[in-house]
Amino acid sequence: MTNILVTGGAGYIGSHACKALSKAGYTPVTYDNFCTGWRDAVKFGPCEEGDLSDRTKLDEVFARYQPAAVMHFAALSQVGESMRDPGIYWRNNVEGSLTLMEAAVEAECFDFVFSSTCATYGEQDNVVLDEGSAQFPINAYGASKRAIEEMLRDFEAAHGLRHVIFRYFNVAGADEEGEVGEFHQPETHLIPLMLDAIDGKRDALTIFGTDYDTPDGTCIRDYVHVMDLVDAHVLGVKWLEDGKGSRVFNLGTGSGFSVREVIEESRNVTNRTVPYNEGPRRAGDCTKLVSGSRRAELELGWQPERSTMKRMISDAWRWHQSGHYDR
Ligand code: UDP
Repeated sequence: MTNILVTGGAGYIGSHACKALSKAGYTPVTYDNFCTGWRDAVKFGPCEEGDLSDRTKLDEVFARYQPAAVMHFAALSQVGESMRDPGIYWRNNVEGSLTLMEAAVEAECFDFVFSSTCATYGEQDNVVLDEGSAQFPINAYGASKRAIEEMLRDFEAAHGLRHVIFRYFNVAGADEEGEVGEFHQPETHLIPLMLDAIDGKRDALTIFGTDYDTPDGTCIRDYVHVMDLVDAHVLGVKWLEDGKGSRVFNLGTGSGFSVREVIEESRNVTNRTVPYNEGPRRAGDCTKLVSGSRRAELELGWQPERSTMKRMISDAWRWHQSGHYDR
């Protein structure tokens, strides 16, 4: 069996990626420090507890498992937090990734799949983004991810580290078989917060800003089902295995939903009232982030077939109600 080292394999996207890898015949080896991940989300392969800053531990893990590729999810990922405390984003995300890349090169593991973000694009003029769009991040989270993309390009030129960079838009939903799902502590994402509010587990949702330059005044995002997203990652590993070289892919659907539209669809799916109020803007938020997925569809053969708002909210709601969520 081919091992794939999955950093952040205990997190939301990482745990779904481990499941997809294992279904595709790979062995996912989770490397996680459990600062935001969950031990019971590691179900599909071995687990190594460690920090990205721990080079000795990383070297041991590369030597033990001889992975064919790295899938690098481990990162801090909250826009608001990155504005309040940028230092931890630069240290954890950028320095951590640098240590990981150095360890990969030393171990001669030259295939690297990186989890980047649409936050690297920043505020743009109401356009549908593509991989060639300029990157001007407006928050430290996006800036940290853009810096890692630049390091990858330098590491390829100097050391032959081949990479697939996925810039994702907003990830939502849960494994349809209910084995893994979304759980963050603290939770900051729109859909899980809203489901909590619907369920009475939290106070009303606050809409962050109603004066944006959008049809209903709230921010617009492009939501992708987590299972579609991780399918792209498996295709990314195969892309590198096939020697197709380094490439950047946006993973979006081309359709944007405003915060009010997400609330409306949640009301339809759950058949419950969504308690919400309207508040000020959140620092670091862009007005609109929407991308097409033409390149991923044409070159990788990716199809975001589960990524309808209805399906994402239904799958998240099923997971939410399954009791796994109550920790
Ligand atoms: N949002 C909101 N209230 C919340 C959480 C999020 O209005 O309690 C908005 C946020 O401003 C953004 C969208 O929902 O426009 C998605 O935010 P999220 O934090 O889920 O993802 P992000 O876009 O920051 O990656």
